[in-house]
Amino acid sequence: MANTTTTTSQAITCKAAVCWAIGKPVTVEEIQVEPPKSTEVRVKMLCASICHTDISSTRGYPHANYPLALGHEGVGVVESVGNQVTNVKEGDMVIPSTIGECQECENCISGKTNLCLTYPLKVTGLMPDNTSRMSIRGHKVYHVFSCATWSEYMVIDANYIIKVDPSIDLAHASFISCGFTTGFGAAWKEAKVKSGSSVAIFGLGAVGLGAISGAKMRGATKIIGIDKNEMKKEKGKAFGMTDFINPSDSDRSASQLVKELSGGMGVDYSFECTGVAPLLTESVKSTKVGTGKTMAIGIGVDTIVPFDLLAILYGRTLQGSISGGIKPTSELSIIADKCQKEEFPLQELLTHEVQLADINKAFEILKQPDCVKVVIKI
Ligand SMILES: [Zn+2]
Ligand SMILES: [Zn+2]
Repeated sequence: MANTTTTTSQAITCKAAVCWAIGKPVTVEEIQVEPPKSTEVRVKMLCASICHTDISSTRGYPHANYPLALGHEGVGVVESVGNQVTNVKEGDMVIPSTIGECQECENCISGKTNLCLTYPLKVTGLMPDNTSRMSIRGHKVYHVFSCATWSEYMVIDANYIIKVDPSIDLAHASFISCGFTTGFGAAWKEAKVKSGSSVAIFGLGAVGLGAISGAKMRGATKIIGIDKNEMKKEKGKAFGMTDFINPSDSDRSASQLVKELSGGMGVDYSFECTGVAPLLTESVKSTKVGTGKTMAIGIGVDTIVPFDLLAILYGRTLQGSISGGIKPTSELSIIADKCQKEEFPLQELLTHEVQLADINKAFEILKQPDCVKVVIKI
């Protein structure tokens, strides 16, 4: 717990998971968190979770500014607000978003994308005014995207938070703040998977399981999950997967295996959720010639990857997506509502829990084959 009083005018000294340089272990340290500026909110974090992007953050992606307070999935309670904040108040339960939604810019009013031009994905590790509210022993501390959720307190711009019902399950709220929503939205909103169609999902982590859920909710009748980890088979089934491929069981390529399961033609849609470079080509080749559509929603540390041009020349479509195309203000609330109505078996994602002090265990646990999501209790 924080060891100073929490008033809006004072900095708070509290614990946070900090990475000092690329490849350095993450340590839990005391940091100072300043009060929020006029358009900002200081949040007392209650629960967070780990996403593969957090591992990338310790390796210099999406920025290499350190020391870095980690974490971008989580849920917390508003501790104090700046004087221009109108969307939330003290005591509200909130989740962070990597992007905002102004509802006025060209992209917001286009109805075609969630990539707001006013409140874009921030990859500098700083607040929108290019400063930081966190420091450690006099050093400026950077954060991941819009926030730092593996911290007892964090400051975030009010345009990057969404109010949720206070009765929401904390772990589930954390899951929908990034990974699950990215997969779900990619199938449900961005690709708008057609009823009766066939789908292949590459990688059955939280993103892939979300994509299965979105495809199922849209009425896809064949949902093929692909993962080297046999333990993901049961998880996939729980979310609505109809067929499973473990590519390590075969000397044929993943795209060939998908075609064999879909009448030789391939699937209508595929979702690449791993960020593993060769799988981008495989996921495109697994779709139908002329009409197949692939959503690229996973990202690894390598952002420039080789790609077989022939795969796309055959009239297929490849599209990328951030947060599954979900608009944070107007659409994430729909997902939060579905979460509370238990329309997704989100409990299947929760496989491990650690305390913030044991954050390094989370990175080890993530390598275990039975791990989907590690919840961090703050
Ligand atoms: Zn906008
Ligand atoms: Zn994430």
